[in-house]
Amino acid sequence: MLIILLGAPGAGKGTIARMLVEKFGIVQISTGDMLRQAVNEGTPVGKKALEFMNSGKLVPDDVIMALIEERIAQPDCAQGFIFDGFPRTIPQAHALESLLTKKNMTVNAIINLEVPEEVVLKRLTSRRTCSNPHCQAIYNIYTMPPKKEGICDKCGSSLIQRDDETEEAIKVRLETYYEKTQPLIDYYCKHKAYFAVSSLDAHETFNAIVKRLQK
Ligand SMILES: [Zn+2]
Repeated sequence: MLIILLGAPGAGKGTIARMLVEKFGIVQISTGDMLRQAVNEGTPVGKKALEFMNSGKLVPDDVIMALIEERIAQPDCAQGFIFDGFPRTIPQAHALESLLTKKNMTVNAIINLEVPEEVVLKRLTSRRTCSNPHCQAIYNIYTMPPKKEGICDKCGSSLIQRDDETEEAIKVRLETYYEKTQPLIDYYCKHKAYFAVSSLDAHETFNAIVKRLQK
């Protein structure tokens, strides 16, 4: 099972991806998580990526493709995998297509999570992340608040608002998204595995996707 999840930052890609991972026994490949790990570990790729991430810009394709090719060759990807937040541009889609063709793999579903911009803004500015690098639990001050304000339930560390989740940074990310990724949706629309689904409630969205995949 090979799934590509599309949608603006804050469309719920991470949540839906985790639900699909559990349902189908596949691996979630989040370029965001892969990049953050590379940044935390201070690898050469991570250092290069950090400059772009801090200013809310996209990380160059060659950096991302190098990370992905390594990742999908790992044994845990044998049952399939789901891309969450990748590809973001048509050149990336082409690069991914070449990689999958090389590996003799076919995409089963290209899912576009649709959500209004004001919902995305509210979701992302309300997110808080555990400051403990070994925990990194994610909360939402409206929908998933910690038991004690500003403190992680799991490890007791303080919660922070990530630099790339302030309203200013998110507006830059959304602008970049609409500018660069909308043409990608127009491109994937013609693919037989493509479908769009409204992403306001995670469980409803998940059920709609599973129904469609089991047709
Ligand atoms: Zn924590």
